[in-house]
Amino acid sequence: MNVDVAVVGLGAMGAATLYQLAKRGVKVVGIDRFSPPHDQGSSHGDTRITRQAVGEGDAYAPLVRRAQQIWRELEGETGVPLFEQCGVLVMTSSATATSHHGTADFTERTLEQARRYGIDHEALDAAGIRARFPQFAPVLDSATGYYEPGGGYVRPEQCIATQLQLARQHGAQLLTGVTVTALEDDQGQTRVVSDGPTVYAKRVIVCAGMWNAGLLGAPFDQLLRVCRQTLYWFELEQPSIFPSPSPTFILAHGPTDEDLCYGFPPLPGENSMKIATEQYGLSTAPDALNRQVTEEECAEMFAGQLVGKIAGVKPKAVKTAVCTYTVTPDFHFIIDQHPTRPAITVVSACSGHGFKHSAAIGEALAQQVVDGHSELDLSAFSLARFAPREATV
Ligand SMILES: Cc1cc2nc3c(=O)[nH]c(=O)nc-3n(C[C@H](O)[C@H](O)[C@H](O)COP(=O)(O)OP(=O)(O)OC[C@H]3O[C@@H](n4cnc5c(N)ncnc54)[C@H](O)[C@@H]3O)c2cc1C
Repeated sequence: MNVDVAVVGLGAMGAATLYQLAKRGVKVVGIDRFSPPHDQGSSHGDTRITRQAVGEGDAYAPLVRRAQQIWRELEGETGVPLFEQCGVLVMTSSATATSHHGTADFTERTLEQARRYGIDHEALDAAGIRARFPQFAPVLDSATGYYEPGGGYVRPEQCIATQLQLARQHGAQLLTGVTVTALEDDQGQTRVVSDGPTVYAKRVIVCAGMWNAGLLGAPFDQLLRVCRQTLYWFELEQPSIFPSPSPTFILAHGPTDEDLCYGFPPLPGENSMKIATEQYGLSTAPDALNRQVTEEECAEMFAGQLVGKIAGVKPKAVKTAVCTYTVTPDFHFIIDQHPTRPAITVVSACSGHGFKHSAAIGEALAQQVVDGHSELDLSAFSLARFAPREATV
């Protein structure tokens, strides 16, 4: 099969990229080892937080703004609900400054960015948090909060399915259940070698998530770590003290990235609340990932992240899931050309905070292919920032 572009991996990043390329009339094939949306990578679990002020850094603010517009455009076109604007609360309830995704003093960084970009928000003190959000209890007197009405959550599986369906309608070919094993130079093209049909492509965009390093080798194998994460849906007490609508939240209660939990309001028709924390201490090989969540992990999660922090939740986990972060040394993305293979673009080392931006990243990559440049600036995500210390390029 001969194409202009092959997109390898059809999770958050690949589905968005495939759709945007197909929409522009590019002859494109998308290849995935599973049948997306699926629960084997980094894009499952019903919900992902989206927020317009992105404490991780200024480079992200235009991305999320554009992504939210695209979700709305897609909803308008298909009628499928993708983006629930229930608001987001970022809160520090700790005597010390806290870190999130490698960003020190995350709540303050978020507030600063909101002020700089004119993003609609409220700065809250402990009394304000207590009055508005009784589920966060007890709240320390020193607590500070950031409430953004424009934030909320997106539905990852529906976003992926919708973009893949539209990509097909625009003429993209999809190869699912096909694992790419090598990308070989072949007379000015790339031969995409897999256990399915061989594809010859002028350009390849690799969005293989936690499998990126295994497929691409150096320098990515030196830069990317895969960290197992666990998700929990805990049953709610009745009558529920969660106000309606209730925001998504990021609750930091200690100095490190792991002293934090984040969660979502109960979804319509469900009597449970999804909550998770993060861990960066243990890395795993993608194919050796432990996909089971134990009773012990559920009990630890409840005791560590809910007791004394969030009220109105029972210790019973009605559902659990395992998901992975693919993390770079500085917690920021890599979206760049391969250092020695300019026909290959590498995406999706998104360090646990990529979904909210994915629709805009897909659009920017498609613009780069078609127009030679993108409207949004992706230069902050270049590989060059790691050279020569971590990477030999
Ligand atoms: C628990 C958890 C919570 C998160 N919360 C948030 C949040 O609240 N907000 C937010 O913005 N972000 C969040 N993120 C991050 C976000 O979900 C990820 O950054 C994003 O989903 C990653 O998408 P991806 O396309 O890079 O990877 P994936 O979705 O994993 O896609 C990679 C795809 O590549 C395919 N593939 C891999 N290798 C091959 C191969 N050799 N051949 C063919 N196909 C292949 C896989 O099957 C897979 O479909 C969270 C992540 C996790 C794990």
